[in-house]
Amino acid sequence: MGVVTFDRNGEKVNLGAIGASPPGGVTRDEAARELESLGEELFALQDLLWGARTHSVLVVLQGRDAAGKDGAIKHVVGHLNPRGVHVTSFGVPTEEEREHDFLWRVHRHAPRKGEFAIFNRSHYEDVLVVRIHDLVPREIWGERFGHIRDFEELLSEHGTIVLKFFLHISKDEQKKRLLEREEDPRTAWKLNPGDWEEREKWGEYTDAYEDAISRTATKRAPWTIVPADAKWYRNLVIARELVQTLRPYKKIWQDKLDQVGKQRKAELDAYRARKS
Ligand code: ATP
Repeated sequence: MGVVTFDRNGEKVNLGAIGASPPGGVTRDEAARELESLGEELFALQDLLWGARTHSVLVVLQGRDAAGKDGAIKHVVGHLNPRGVHVTSFGVPTEEEREHDFLWRVHRHAPRKGEFAIFNRSHYEDVLVVRIHDLVPREIWGERFGHIRDFEELLSEHGTIVLKFFLHISKDEQKKRLLEREEDPRTAWKLNPGDWEEREKWGEYTDAYEDAISRTATKRAPWTIVPADAKWYRNLVIARELVQTLRPYKKIWQDKLDQVGKQRKAELDAYRARKS
């Protein structure tokens, strides 16, 4: 099975039927080489995006604890020029944030033209953790899918290219990663009893993710389910998706830059003509 994406609102999502491990046919070494080359292409595309300033890119990373959101940022986003990237991690809302609508804290981190915004967790927590822990009544979070669709459409109409990734790990792989953190003093700082507590609600999170993905998948803001049990494959899938999505814009951006270049050159020629 190839990588699964959802871009139709209401399409049925069954995470249990989607594998979390890499499919056969690609080795770790090949993946490392491809990632390197995708990284270079991504960097070049970002340069055009930055110069053209006609679009921006929003990358939403969602996944259970230890699914690898931080790792994906390090190994994929790390290929970008930091000048044009803003990473925002969304934790438990502050009192001020809770006293506003749920998109208030999110909207101001939307990317400006020419830039990338990476969301490590996002407005989706407001239909995931919030639903599972009954933090707001069902009538409230139930309305949020529509608000999210409208919000992402608004961003898209403003030139934001939206990509959403669900890092899909298996229950066994999560356990292995949480236990490894305990054994390694270098990763012990990440320990959090809350991770084990959330793990007990595995099935509830699965339902909540399936609903969230199904109800917010659109052509303009599609979801990619990333098989994330192998970190090297996870990185490859995200990088491929990013490059494949941005590649079609290359000509638009290049044309814009050529046009601006000609205009600037004409201005310079006019300046010289005035001086001579
Ligand atoms: P992570 O678990 O993402 O690696 P972390 O353990 O360092 O991050 P923080 O980034 O401080 O912790 O916060 C993440 C936590 O915040 C998660 O447990 C997440 O469910 C919770 N959270 C995020 N958004 C919301 C929200 N809108 N309402 C309630 N809890 C939220």
